Amino acid sequence: MPILALTLDLDDTLWPVLPALQRADHAVDAWLRQHHPEVARAWPVEAMRGLRAEVAAERVDLAHDFTTQRQLTLRLAFASCGIADAPIDALWEIYFAQRNRVELYPDSLPALRRLTARWPLASLTNGNADLGRIGIDAHFSHHVCARDHGVAKPDAGLFKAAIGLLGVPAGNVLHVGDDPLTDMAGARDAGLRTAWINRDAKAWPNELGPPPDLDLPHLTALADWLESHASQE
Ligand SMILES: [Mg+2]
Repeated sequence: MPILALTLDLDDTLWPVLPALQRADHAVDAWLRQHHPEVARAWPVEAMRGLRAEVAAERVDLAHDFTTQRQLTLRLAFASCGIADAPIDALWEIYFAQRNRVELYPDSLPALRRLTARWPLASLTNGNADLGRIGIDAHFSHHVCARDHGVAKPDAGLFKAAIGLLGVPAGNVLHVGDDPLTDMAGARDAGLRTAWINRDAKAWPNELGPPPDLDLPHLTALADWLESHASQE
């Protein structure tokens, strides 16, 4: 079956997400130290991360919504210091600006240009990256994020939402991502074809079932494969 469209994971597929998340945590901490030193003292970066992990564990109903998880974490931190009215809007802008200051992998932008020249491309993420702020929004015809749909990858519902927007059958869509469970097993079980961007050359975890259709070291290899194979099918 020819590939007629692509869905593309964002975090750790187009850029490494950890440096941006760490910068965001530290930017929030710096603001708290200046404006609410009592909250900063009670909730230094590591403690705040622990609190967020507790929120994530307790609020499984928010598993698809990292934004609300983080905002709830900040509210709880302020509440524990006796402040009921946490400055969520200001803090979120500080967090979100840094969270979107990502540094693309060197292969990402050239590959995006090659891919979008031939295939409709939908972003498909559980995270809260803002492609407009990052400056690559024009490469995508659709955006599908867990927060908007009430389900997160690997739930087939999120993949089906993307397929519906792209308007092509699942078997003609190639999902591209880094995560074996949420991207590869999820897309495979939803009937999509799968391309694993396996930058660290890891072994496929066989407990997740059959391996992806493609196991590639970077997005340049994906663009090479698509250009040489897709038209022959
Ligand atoms: Mg990812």
